[in-house]
Amino acid sequence: MLRFITILFAVILIAQSYIFLSSDSHAKKISEAKEQIVNIYSSRKEELIKNLFDKFTEETGIKVNFVTDKAGKLISRLQAEGRNSPADLLLTVDVGNLSYASELGLLDDVKSKTLTQNISEKYRSNNWFGLSVRARPIFYNKEKVKPEQLSTYENLSDPKWKGKILIRSSSNIYNQSLLASLIEANGLETTEKWANGLVANFARKPQGGDTDQLRALAAGVGDVAVANSYYYGRLVASEKEADKKVVEKIAIFFPNQNDRGAHVNISGGGVLKHAKNRDNAIKLLEFLSSHDAQKFYAEVNHEYPILADTKLSEIVLSFGKFKQDEIPLSALSKHRAEVLKIADRAGWR
Ligand code: FE
Repeated sequence: MLRFITILFAVILIAQSYIFLSSDSHAKKISEAKEQIVNIYSSRKEELIKNLFDKFTEETGIKVNFVTDKAGKLISRLQAEGRNSPADLLLTVDVGNLSYASELGLLDDVKSKTLTQNISEKYRSNNWFGLSVRARPIFYNKEKVKPEQLSTYENLSDPKWKGKILIRSSSNIYNQSLLASLIEANGLETTEKWANGLVANFARKPQGGDTDQLRALAAGVGDVAVANSYYYGRLVASEKEADKKVVEKIAIFFPNQNDRGAHVNISGGGVLKHAKNRDNAIKLLEFLSSHDAQKFYAEVNHEYPILADTKLSEIVLSFGKFKQDEIPLSALSKHRAEVLKIADRAGWR
């Protein structure tokens, strides 16, 4: 009898595991494990990246999962998650954010022939790679300023611009990188004086983003503004009447054309140290630096492609040719602490 019960029990156990193995949920688990994926934390907005990810999936079969948030929040999240983070790749804007993530030890070195071929050395490091380029030029109100009156970033601290300059807060990474580029070019002391002079010339307390500076410029709140080139591009592309009126009133000016050139920066990405899908993350970076993806970046967000020989969009072409500051962007991060101190002491809030 005992023997019979033991055999019966064994049969039940075998039957159970058979049912489990053939059940749908288990089969699904196995196929999911085999599915190729890459998980992304992106501070670039969905409308700028979704099409590119779909194209990547189409070409490679690798599924792209992504969450979008502000760069600072994503970086804090990566720090908190540590090795448990599901993220494989960080996509964000500005070398300031990329090098900060690198300094926190979040990024992993990547050796890729495709990336080193496609991306100029000045736009990459060992663990972050530029994927598009943007300039941070000066804009002016055409009724109030003649372009001959403009020359350099340095000149914006001249008292002749008192009460006339529009620029957002120094807590913004674009301004921090611009300040770093000035320290790199002119040294600490000169840049501190410059920041003091600039703040003394503000048309108003810094408020809003780059687009808000351009709108205020058109409204006559100030005579001169500093903003990234693609914000102007978006206004030029806009069908809205209000935006068209803004564009009519203002013009773009690339400063420092007789010396080092206008400040440029990047959007870019880096593979994360705890990536579980490292190869797929590298493949995605390589794809984003490829010709097809680069064309899209240029057209959708009015940025400059990182890959030489990619056609500029009509709108970006209309900005005109300009000389850019050739300093390798990796040289800017060493000034971070001083940038924050200088901006703070100058009262640039
Ligand atoms: Fe931006």
